[in-house]
Amino acid sequence: MLLGAPGSGKGTQAEMITRQFGIPVTSPGAILRREKDLGTPLGLETAEITQHGGLVSDKIIVRLIEDWLRLHGGHGFVFDGFPRTLPQAESLSSILTRLRTALDLAIWLEVSEETVRDRISSRLQCRSCGFTTSAASAKFAERPVCPYCDGPLVRRNDDDITVLQNRLAEFKNKTQPLAEFYEKTSILHRIDGNRDREAVFNDISRLIEEKTAA
Ligand code: ADP
Repeated sequence: MLLGAPGSGKGTQAEMITRQFGIPVTSPGAILRREKDLGTPLGLETAEITQHGGLVSDKIIVRLIEDWLRLHGGHGFVFDGFPRTLPQAESLSSILTRLRTALDLAIWLEVSEETVRDRISSRLQCRSCGFTTSAASAKFAERPVCPYCDGPLVRRNDDDITVLQNRLAEFKNKTQPLAEFYEKTSILHRIDGNRDREAVFNDISRLIEEKTAA
């Protein structure tokens, strides 16, 4: 699982893991954005909270993850931005016990507030497939379109400086305590997420390779 503050690069690293190792990834944030775009009851019910940077209820998130695990989790999985609260981590432990599987790694991407602000203010995301990039990388293109699916590259509506304050406060109050929770189980690894995506991915790959070789 990948844990870290908003803008820590969790989503990008999760995509790279899937591409390199073929391990399926799930991200509650990405699921909720898609549900909202599709106008489903779940999307509409949670839109108000995500738009203001709050955390969606543990009950809704745990149900999403449990359903996803039953369908896709049979041959390994990566969680991007889950769990984010202690009750979510506790629910995950009981779900995994029931499914007779275990967590191999919890990767904590450490980033400074400066990195978070820089990344969030220049982040662009494809509205169709969710691919994430930055304004600096996209500006060389003639049109801001996704290199993978040609969808439009847009700002996320919660990538706004006031909403970010709420997301960071939620992170400090509810997510930060998970570091201690997973440190106790000795699966936690901290990685410096302030570096470029390739350097971070090298460190993550090494950890995954060590696990798969073991
Ligand atoms: P970021 O880490 O950049 O804030 P995410 O895409 O992971 O972005 O999450 C976007 C939003 O989706 C969060 O601000 C929150 O409202 C909701 N969300 C995502 N994951 C969770 C979770 N595990 N628990 C509660 N809410 C979540």
